[in-house]
Amino acid sequence: MQGKPRIISACLRVCLSLSCLSLLMWAEGGAGAKAVKAPSVKLPGPAFVALETITPDHIRWHVRYLSHDLLEGRGTGQRGGDIAAEYVATQFAEYGLKPAGDHGTYMQKVPLVGITTLPETQFSLNPKQGEAMHLKPLDEYVAFDQTQQPESNVDADIVFVGYGIEAPEYNWDDYKGLDVRGKVLLMLVNEPPSDDPKFFKGKALTYYGRWTYKYEEAARKGAVGVLLIHQTQMASYPWEVVRNSNSGEKSALKIEGPALKVASWIHLDVATRLASAFGTSLDKLLKDAQSRDFHPVNLGARLQAHMVSKIRSFESQNVVAMLPGSDHKAADEAVIYTAHYDHFGVRPDMPGDNIFNGADDNATGCGILLELARAFGTAALRPHRSIIFAAVTAEEQGLLGSEYLGKHPPIPASKITLDLNYDDVKPLGAPEEVEVSGAERTNFFPSVQATAKEFRLAIRPDARPEAGHFYRSDHFSLARVGIPSFSINEGMKYKGHNEAWGMDQEREYVDKHYHQPSDEYHPEMDFVGDSAVARFGFALGWEAASLPNLIEWQKGDEFEAARVKSQ
Ligand SMILES: [Zn+2]
Repeated sequence: MQGKPRIISACLRVCLSLSCLSLLMWAEGGAGAKAVKAPSVKLPGPAFVALETITPDHIRWHVRYLSHDLLEGRGTGQRGGDIAAEYVATQFAEYGLKPAGDHGTYMQKVPLVGITTLPETQFSLNPKQGEAMHLKPLDEYVAFDQTQQPESNVDADIVFVGYGIEAPEYNWDDYKGLDVRGKVLLMLVNEPPSDDPKFFKGKALTYYGRWTYKYEEAARKGAVGVLLIHQTQMASYPWEVVRNSNSGEKSALKIEGPALKVASWIHLDVATRLASAFGTSLDKLLKDAQSRDFHPVNLGARLQAHMVSKIRSFESQNVVAMLPGSDHKAADEAVIYTAHYDHFGVRPDMPGDNIFNGADDNATGCGILLELARAFGTAALRPHRSIIFAAVTAEEQGLLGSEYLGKHPPIPASKITLDLNYDDVKPLGAPEEVEVSGAERTNFFPSVQATAKEFRLAIRPDARPEAGHFYRSDHFSLARVGIPSFSINEGMKYKGHNEAWGMDQEREYVDKHYHQPSDEYHPEMDFVGDSAVARFGFALGWEAASLPNLIEWQKGDEFEAARVKSQ
């Protein structure tokens, strides 16, 4: 790690000299220097000094600690997760930040239920013709009982409902009014393929394509179960990810509203066999599902499931701190930074290395969050609006900690001008690009573009909009309650490498390490990029905290209604 940072600090010096120039003008003009029109990062001198204290090594040491085997994979509701939370709270205290959790503490309690599907569970698909298929857990299916009951029985018809989407704005309805109460719904993940930006946003994934939407919609319609067909390309991740994300204990916020007795994924091979037992092919079903005229198909098969679960009520916590704003009037408004600290913990049933260290995912984001907290907390000047720092729990369990935070924010959601989230920022060296997907949906985007330019970072459009990353990290939970929100990450182009190299790194990570025990800390990791996007986010946060008005979604954006509702 000696060589590369030196190259980078040289680079950063060049990058920032531009800002220095304009910042000098600001400094000379004093506090009332607003007349100086500098097309630059609008940071007053002391803020710039604070920004410059953000370093790769500070982030490295947080990542090294948080992803250590002794932290046991930071499982939600597990000891390692609680130690990580305590570590974050301790840092917040050291930086002089105010507690913004429950009752004057840094901890915001998040009431959760742990559900473990027990081996006594039986799961079989019984076609009208041919033999019953008794499925093997983890290899052929994964299933959870969302009703949070220790035992549930399902014996119901399986109906193929295509993508399981009802979206009037796109004139799409897979259900066609069919009464699916008491049924088990077989469906595809993702959404009908299209290049038309007006149809499910073209290649980009909308929320309709997410498995969470599919479960929610089926439950709203009274179905008792869902079987999601896993196909690597459609899901954008391999079966191992489904398997690892769904084995062991799964957490949920305490139940409110309708829920599925069986929320499950089945392996592609199982779906193929089920289709052929019905006398058709899976390819044919997939093809039919792509038509607007698709009608649900009763496959004449039944799911017989005896779900046996261990149900455990417990609490986890978000760790929340605040730096009060300097302006008396603006201080009841805030910018919030978020990053999840949880990962998958330890899987005692797994042979070999069974600690899910989550170094990239998301010790890196926590390291950045803490480094931002330190830089803001120790700066000689505070921004006008307050700054909130939240390390959230249970992201890997379905964005639960941030969902709870969105529903119980430390100040009203309508007063939070912006959420900047960090999740899985690869320690691969100096980025020449940033990803800020979702920023273009807000009126803050011109500032983001100008700031990126100052930092000599090209804005890279979402590398894989079809993967729906916008709906897969914690900023989405805050967007759902109306807060303009996006994640900051590196793009694909790194200094000294071409784009193909970046893509190769990404592919290798997704195939071999994403949500695997091998997502571990290595001393060769280069945190220069993490530091660069932290500095970039510092500048954006400072600016958002200083703008005369609160940030808004663009007109017609899918989150605009939530913002209006919150006001
Ligand atoms: Zn993850």
